[in-house]
Amino acid sequence: MLNGIGGSAGYGIGTAVLISEGKPEYTPCEVSDAEAEIKRFEDAVTLFTERTQAMADAMRETVGEHNAEILEGHIVMLSDPFMQDEIKGMIRSGSCAETAVDHVCDMFISMFSQVEDELTRQRTTDIGDIRVRLLKILTGTPEVNISEVPPNTVLVAKDLTPSMTAGIVKENVVGIVTELGGKTSHSAILARALEIPAVLSVENVTSMVTDGMTIAVDGCGGSCILNPSEAETEEYRKHREAYLKEKEGLEVFRGKPAVTADGKQVRLYGNIGSPEDAEAVKAGDGEGVGLFRTEFLFMETDQLPSEEEQFEAYKKAAEIMEGKEVIIRTLDVGGDKDIPYLGLSREDNPFLGFRAVRYCLANEASYRVQLRALLRASAYGDIKIMVPLVTSVEEIRRVKELVADIKKELDAEGIAYNQDIQVGVMIETPAASLIADLLAKEADFFSIGTNDLTQYTMAVDRGNAKVAYLYSAYHPAVLRSIRNIIEAANREGIMVGMCGEAAADTLLIPLLISFGLGEYSVSATSILATKSTIAKWSKEEADRLASQVMELSTEAEVAAVLKANKR
Ligand code: PEP
Ligand code: MG
Repeated sequence: MLNGIGGSAGYGIGTAVLISEGKPEYTPCEVSDAEAEIKRFEDAVTLFTERTQAMADAMRETVGEHNAEILEGHIVMLSDPFMQDEIKGMIRSGSCAETAVDHVCDMFISMFSQVEDELTRQRTTDIGDIRVRLLKILTGTPEVNISEVPPNTVLVAKDLTPSMTAGIVKENVVGIVTELGGKTSHSAILARALEIPAVLSVENVTSMVTDGMTIAVDGCGGSCILNPSEAETEEYRKHREAYLKEKEGLEVFRGKPAVTADGKQVRLYGNIGSPEDAEAVKAGDGEGVGLFRTEFLFMETDQLPSEEEQFEAYKKAAEIMEGKEVIIRTLDVGGDKDIPYLGLSREDNPFLGFRAVRYCLANEASYRVQLRALLRASAYGDIKIMVPLVTSVEEIRRVKELVADIKKELDAEGIAYNQDIQVGVMIETPAASLIADLLAKEADFFSIGTNDLTQYTMAVDRGNAKVAYLYSAYHPAVLRSIRNIIEAANREGIMVGMCGEAAADTLLIPLLISFGLGEYSVSATSILATKSTIAKWSKEEADRLASQVMELSTEAEVAAVLKANKR
């Protein structure tokens, strides 16, 4: 068995088709007529742009707007004046177009790969994709057409680039295995959009697989088996059937409210990273958006998005959700999320440093732009503002002062906004948890960010594999913290939700029901499964389990009892 990362859930068994998307061969040469060579390069760019736009249009039909935009991003990247100037400059110094493209793409790849932020690092895949396709045009090499693979295919590739996936016929591809990519890589996003089981980051898989080999793909556990035995094939088939049956079974929950077994209704929302993701929340049966991570909006550009750009993005999310609640988190930068143009300096302890609301309040001018955009967009739907990484009452008070101030500005300018817009707090630090009673008097609502709450409560870097064994929401400290936060909010009568990964954890849900969580915000694809788990527990049963679990002393004991009671 080969282990990797589960990038898209599901099980598939099929025949390998190895996609070797290497660079085409070319012989570097010196050019004497630089202008003619630049013209050859420009013609290649024109053809590249036409073909890419056609692929993006086709993709828009099959996997949706967001994925088409990934491909359109290639056109934008290639038209970047800096990139164009570098390539043309090399041609003017005598290089042929192929050498210039190859060299400049290398330069961009090495630049992006040094950035710590995962999203920016993934741009290296896009540049690699652009390079191969541009070199193919220049050398006249035909492009691989994935749309022609036979039924029952498992695609195996170093990395599945957006242009390669454009032509995938969902019915013919039963699995995807790649050497590169993580949960948030484009290949993972696309595989999930197409609902094809995928395992990513499988070391050296392209050198172990040959065309025609049988491969069993487990996108849930993140592993695959090359040439599975009969017994293994049978086992995968069983897993596959059970998975599909469970998925089909979840359909009965579609369109119904999220209620516990004894009829208590909760709110079930989805998390998004872009306005377009709201479509996926709607398609996934979400009743609202519990977390819009706005930092992605700031990461996609090379300068601060303007008030107008932000306004359009927030308005779009609100409009897509058609009046349903959309909780938008103000910029959460710093920690593991760098935005190069903000010029944040390196820190010894970035997670404990200049991050989120701390950064925003210290850069009031740009924070005001975001708050103004949010207020203006609130005229188009039910937008709520959420402040990340709060540790003290002063922070929420200051944000509320700024909001009040901007409201006056808008009043003076006669611009519409929701006068009663709510301002809530993300509870994701031990400090906020311990003063939840005090914060509940200031905030309009809470949302528990268990990803960070676990990290800060356990004093364990959420990305450090060496201490990952300590990173668990089942630890009694984290559970007590969650209970304290929910109880404080309920005592004060404000809404309390959870937007960290724990909200979708099947094992934890009975405890959250017992504690009195009012809103669950999970990834779009987990909404129905979360609804199904909520429906399996009555308050009384959940209380019984919670009182047993909250007496336990260790994480391992908690995990064991929760597993034994899994429904
Ligand atoms: C969290 O910390 O739980 C959370 C939802 O925010 P993020 O994962 O973006 O830090
Ligand atoms: Mg967080």
